Amino acid sequence: MSLAGGIERVWVAGRASAAAIADLLLPDLCSGCDTAAPARNGLCKACVIDLMHLTGLPYCLRCGSTLGPYIKVVYGDGCAFCPTPLPRFARVVRLGPYAPPLRHIVHQLKYRRSTTMLERLGLLLAEAVDGCGDVGELDVIAPVPSWWSRRLMRGVDHAALLAEAVGRRMDLPIAPVLRRVRNTPPQVGRSRTQRVHNVRGAFDAVADDDLGGARVLLIDDVTTTGATASECARMLLRAGAVRVTLAVVGKAEPYKAYAPRLQTPGGATNMD
Ligand SMILES: [Zn+2]
Ligand SMILES: [Zn+2]
Repeated sequence: MSLAGGIERVWVAGRASAAAIADLLLPDLCSGCDTAAPARNGLCKACVIDLMHLTGLPYCLRCGSTLGPYIKVVYGDGCAFCPTPLPRFARVVRLGPYAPPLRHIVHQLKYRRSTTMLERLGLLLAEAVDGCGDVGELDVIAPVPSWWSRRLMRGVDHAALLAEAVGRRMDLPIAPVLRRVRNTPPQVGRSRTQRVHNVRGAFDAVADDDLGGARVLLIDDVTTTGATASECARMLLRAGAVRVTLAVVGKAEPYKAYAPRLQTPGGATNMD
């Protein structure tokens, strides 16, 4: 075991213990807003309604952007919000825009090691993928890997946990074929072009028997411009995969299409 791996394991064990103690001491609060008492599946009534609203919004299949009711998407060409060139993954499946309560749920998953919603997110994402008739057959799931020091600081590899939850629901194996080979500065404040350059060469895909001809479901918690996921898809395709579908909990985007109480002043966030 490398020194970094050893430090990470000790640190994560400590974080896990602290989180377990905190769970015992803290009152049971809604995972979507952290203020109201949960009514169903860990969410209060208002958050359940907001979540249903978010997951029902129409979105572009190529970039995941929320679309108005009168905007048409030509599947191969994407929408007016799609980046140029289009991402290397074939399409996006998302739960909703990265807005409350999804944003708070993901934040808990990412920074507070809260696994309360993990299985539910996995179930929702699996159902969203199953509900898309054009995704087709899938062979393996691959999480977007994070750099070891970020996992260390957060105490959890949230994309890997989410991928495992989705895999359990879809009865698909996890293929840890993607590796992050270098750290990258945060994407916040960068243009799409800058983000693409920032993550270029940051990943490697190990060509193995499972990947040859495979249809891969790439999993991440949030996407913004799709630059990171597109780079991962590029490496997966280079290593032998024939199709990559991106599945995310949230698509970070400037507020526009959803209800005023869900809008996020400041627009997109610091994700990929
Ligand atoms: Zn709530
Ligand atoms: Zn689009």
